[in-house]
Amino acid sequence: MRVIEPHIHMIARTTQDYQRMALMHTVACVEPAFWAGYDRAGAQAFYDYFKHLTEFEPTRAAQYNIRHYCHICMNPKEADNLSLSREVISFVPEFLEKPTALGIGEIGLNKNTKNEMTVFAEQVELAVKLDKVMWLHTPHLADKLKGTRMMLEYLKGHGRVRPSMVCFDHAEEHTIGMIIEAGFWASMTIYPVTKNSPPRVVDAVERFGLDRIMVDASGDWGPSDPATLHDAIFEMRKRGHREEDIETLFYDNPARFLGQSPKFAFKPRE
Ligand SMILES: [Zn+2]
Repeated sequence: MRVIEPHIHMIARTTQDYQRMALMHTVACVEPAFWAGYDRAGAQAFYDYFKHLTEFEPTRAAQYNIRHYCHICMNPKEADNLSLSREVISFVPEFLEKPTALGIGEIGLNKNTKNEMTVFAEQVELAVKLDKVMWLHTPHLADKLKGTRMMLEYLKGHGRVRPSMVCFDHAEEHTIGMIIEAGFWASMTIYPVTKNSPPRVVDAVERFGLDRIMVDASGDWGPSDPATLHDAIFEMRKRGHREEDIETLFYDNPARFLGQSPKFAFKPRE
């Protein structure tokens, strides 16, 4: 069985992680643009970061037969600075033309501020105009429910956003229902220590089904591990889920969502 990792920050990982992912049958991964562990000093730092995502990581991944793709954007954690955000957004389209850049992400909310919402809305416009998929960051912990609702209401009222083109990430039990009922995609992020564990993610799959649901490991600078994705696969096998359904969740679904970009090379099984 093949695995697609739809959300991982490889810039924060060692080359050995690519090797481990390859040994666990990961054939493609997607790296959304996000915070770097520190607030960047100016727009040029984002420009360099986008170059890293579109030039260096695809080359590093290719050594392990993994196709590396990315989403480009101004991330929500630094979006409270409106003028910096707009400067960054001005060169996002240049990077969206790169052969491995699929869509706009991870955009969204962090602390649910007015400026974050403005930067989110401006990037939704860009995605609609350029017909790109959107990867959404929902806030963590106490801010999650409110932030998810704010984005959901905004997108539902927008008029020109196709829900099939949008995935809300870091979804949990209390947000998945409202996301998928409105026709959007939901992805659950697994963390080894905090938040969503592999068994908790499998519980949610058993409750909400397989349609328009994805799972990711979101490896980054914090406590995280690309192998948690494969722990969730093992958890499904242990519970007796059909191999067929496991592959739908970990391969076909991301291939279906990401395949809305003509640049994505992997097709879902028939
Ligand atoms: Zn992320």
